[in-house]
Amino acid sequence: MPSRMKDYRALLESAVAHSYEPISVLNFHRLDQAGGIDPGRRYLILRHDIDTDPDAAREFWQIECDFGATASHYFRLCTLSLDLMNQIEDSGGEASYHYEEIATVAKEECLRTRAEVTAAMPRIRERFARNYQWLQKVSGLQMKSVASHGDFVNRKLLISNDEILVDQDLRDDLGIELETYDDDAQVHICSRHSDHMRPKLWHPSSPFEAIEQRHSVVYLLTHPRHFRCRIAQNLSCDMRRLYEGICFKHAMRSRHRVMRQPIVGE
Ligand SMILES: [Zn+2]
Repeated sequence: MPSRMKDYRALLESAVAHSYEPISVLNFHRLDQAGGIDPGRRYLILRHDIDTDPDAAREFWQIECDFGATASHYFRLCTLSLDLMNQIEDSGGEASYHYEEIATVAKEECLRTRAEVTAAMPRIRERFARNYQWLQKVSGLQMKSVASHGDFVNRKLLISNDEILVDQDLRDDLGIELETYDDDAQVHICSRHSDHMRPKLWHPSSPFEAIEQRHSVVYLLTHPRHFRCRIAQNLSCDMRRLYEGICFKHAMRSRHRVMRQPIVGE
């Protein structure tokens, strides 16, 4: 499949032509906190969850630089690109953490129910804090907003990773200002759009239409795998997910501990 990066460029072109200000999640949040959101202006909030293929994040960012746009790029531990993250921040954008410690610990410890995850939450939060502080240290970035990743384990156990940050003390200790799914971050958003595989392309509707209809605040979430066809990387990711799914299912039955992953910083 051809790259969709030209569509992303066209989207920013359209947004600018319709007098939108492309803005990162954190910058929009801070504008809101300062009472600076102008109802007479239009905002396009840009968020990238870098689940795979950090090179695609570079392409997104280079296009954003051409338009003077800021965007939020959230990286998993397995997709970190420290040089790129610093370049994004230096240009006024945001690079931060796409976290998944509930899913990671649930896989390691074969947690089978939401109740078991809740019981394990103290060590899950400790794990999150260690990873977050380690990433701050090696990247030199502040990472004031974070975004939770959705894993098949989260869907199976009906608990999302952002449950970690329900703990306000943890947020305060780490200095986290915003989780992207916080309620107060949603109030101004008129329409929300995310990318989707072909042929649908967008869910639930096209951001191009929202821009043409001049919605005042449009929120766009994108992922590398829907914009660049990296067959080897996508296949590798799919195979890992399949393998983890089989292991998790087997482990849930046998209750054996499998798939222990190294803890970052150890
Ligand atoms: Zn994700």
